[in-house]
Amino acid sequence: MTSAQGPLLSRAGYDRASHRRTDADWLAQAWTGSRVLVISPKSATPVEPDAAGVSRLAFRDPSSVDDIAPRRFLGLVGEVPYFTATVERDGDDDWPTLRDLGPTIDDLDAGLLTSAIALEQWHQRHTHCPLCGTPTVESNSGWTRTCPADGSEHYPRTDPAVIMLIHDGADLALLGRGVQWGAGRFSTLAGFVEPGESLEAAVAREVFEEVGIVVRDVRYVASQPWPFPASLMLGFSARLDGDPTIDLDPVEMAEAGWFTRAEVEQAAEWVDTGTEPDPDVRIQGVSPKLSISRYLIDLWLAGELPA
Ligand SMILES: [Zn+2]
Repeated sequence: MTSAQGPLLSRAGYDRASHRRTDADWLAQAWTGSRVLVISPKSATPVEPDAAGVSRLAFRDPSSVDDIAPRRFLGLVGEVPYFTATVERDGDDDWPTLRDLGPTIDDLDAGLLTSAIALEQWHQRHTHCPLCGTPTVESNSGWTRTCPADGSEHYPRTDPAVIMLIHDGADLALLGRGVQWGAGRFSTLAGFVEPGESLEAAVAREVFEEVGIVVRDVRYVASQPWPFPASLMLGFSARLDGDPTIDLDPVEMAEAGWFTRAEVEQAAEWVDTGTEPDPDVRIQGVSPKLSISRYLIDLWLAGELPA
């Protein structure tokens, strides 16, 4: 059951051991006995099949990437240190991305890869000091950047976004199709939290802006990191308060509708085979399994979402 396991990218399975990030002697020693997760600048990574044929991350021996800098310390599994480094893609092997791997890799691989990508995406986008404009350098084993001109320290960003399943307290859920989604594909509504705004207020505002619906009973459900590039998705449920008539924002939403459990259940089983959607079916498919949107939808289908 999906709900017992939690959102797929929220799994961790290792100790971040953050107190070691400033310990240069310990880090140098740890590197020699470590396993190294290499990722490309576009966040692809080499894999290898395990005994059952399932893709596992193909960690490298530190001696094979010794000339790679910077080395970023991810954490410990038992006594074994894990680092990540960014390399250009090499060899003929298939290098899948987290989106490809997320549904099948185990908790440890999912946690390490999500953190490695989030760090790399942040470093790529935050190269200069926001105070004085000087190029910054990596520090604390990749977990901060420091300005050599004024000594200021800068931390990785995490941008909060709310994502919410709106229901009527009975058999209907409100799902929408963003303008970038293909015909027949629906998901929960979502949006970024604005400065100075509470999470609950962001849920209510986004729902009203996108579909003109008023909600109440906003309840937190679960969160999932989404490192493309720096989101933390905060999942909620909320209940319709009053008029269910949809007033769509055409800039963000192509369409939205109230759907029954039976309709959503059927759409959740849909597999994209490239065929044209059936014009008689209102909802053809829902969000992919890796997303917290799908996690919320599956909870609602199972009757496990807070009322
Ligand atoms: Zn500066």
